Amino acid sequence: MLSIAAKYLKSYLFYQKSQRWSRDRIEAHQDEMLKRLIRHAGKQVPYYRRLFRSVGFDPESFRGREDLTRIPLLDKETVRTRRDELIADNARSYGITWESTSGSTGTPLHLIVDRGAQAAKLAALLRSYQWAGYSLRKKTFSLQSYYIENADFEYKPVFNVLRYDSNKLRKDSALKVIAEVNRIKPKFFMGFPFDLLMFSRFALDEGIEIALPDAVVTYGETLSEHKREALKRAYKCGIFDFYSNHEANVMIAECEHHRLHLIDDFALHEVIEAYSDNLANNGRGELIGTGLYNYAMPLIRYRTRDDIVLSDDGARCPCGRNFPVVEQIIGKQCDYIETPDGRLLGAVMSHSIDNGRGVVMSQCIQDALDHIDVNLVVDNQYNENSQQAIERDLRKRLGREMRIDFHIVPQLVKRDGGKTPFILSKIGRTYV
Ligand SMILES: [Zn+2]
Repeated sequence: MLSIAAKYLKSYLFYQKSQRWSRDRIEAHQDEMLKRLIRHAGKQVPYYRRLFRSVGFDPESFRGREDLTRIPLLDKETVRTRRDELIADNARSYGITWESTSGSTGTPLHLIVDRGAQAAKLAALLRSYQWAGYSLRKKTFSLQSYYIENADFEYKPVFNVLRYDSNKLRKDSALKVIAEVNRIKPKFFMGFPFDLLMFSRFALDEGIEIALPDAVVTYGETLSEHKREALKRAYKCGIFDFYSNHEANVMIAECEHHRLHLIDDFALHEVIEAYSDNLANNGRGELIGTGLYNYAMPLIRYRTRDDIVLSDDGARCPCGRNFPVVEQIIGKQCDYIETPDGRLLGAVMSHSIDNGRGVVMSQCIQDALDHIDVNLVVDNQYNENSQQAIERDLRKRLGREMRIDFHIVPQLVKRDGGKTPFILSKIGRTYV
């Protein structure tokens, strides 16, 4: 078996080449990879053995994308409740890494992303960042949920990266980090849009200038037009959005010409109109992803619960790559929480629910500076330990002073217009 480093290198070289492939070649590659994966799923994965039998689907007859709609869609709820059946009998041979995620939906999932899928994801991600001007030699500032012990930030010389723990994001700590940024002068910034925006606002409030980067890459939450413009004004450089998931079965990246592309050499993407199985070739629909690599736990036709809008003219991007153009990622839109000690927490909060066994959906509603209600929709797996695990992880972010009340509810609170945000602010810290 290839060593991990060799796998990464192989993936890296692959993605450098495949971005120049013709559309026909990309699609032939997808068909080939899908055939292999679906036959494997039919043999080795208990969930798919049963599913294929029950819908009368013979994996040996599978020809490629044209046959994909014969396989039913897979939703998060099925992954949550039938996880063990989705793990291949021979999963171990692919190298197992467990991932925990709540995405931005507040539904905790534990799943396996095997070594090959990890390598492919890292390589495809690296290529996307290169489109924005990144290189391994470039000094980078990364604002993320790092859980740095006993410090707010750290510099990792090997990777040339200054890391700032977004759980510690508040004014006094941000000002220290801004001083560090101004000393090191990283040329590449990355983080959640909300966090990067707050970071720049703290500098603005104090009349301090931040040493400007060449580019900013954002990910982890929806980048609204409003946020993009605000980030452009703050950092005076190109903003590049990136969208992916822990499940490693979708990827969208922004190229040098600031167009979003479906990364079709990493996953097979479909866009489906709500509640129908018809392929919506144009326009808005839910993004459905099939990762091409994860043999330990294949997730086929996985519903992301995120809507995207595909470009309707089908025009080629000036970058020359044959990846479809996405007009807009709709995604989730949540408010943010302000803690009594002045920290501001956005979509990063959803990680607090990652260990909540038996939680089907969740939501945080802040109605006072020192009080939040946590609404949980649960099933029979939920018990006292689940609540303790969530409370422990919430405390890490919210601190001691925040009062937290848990409520088991039949359904979550909706915003006007029908959306169900993970964070709902009743003290005016609303989504922009
Ligand atoms: Zn392009």
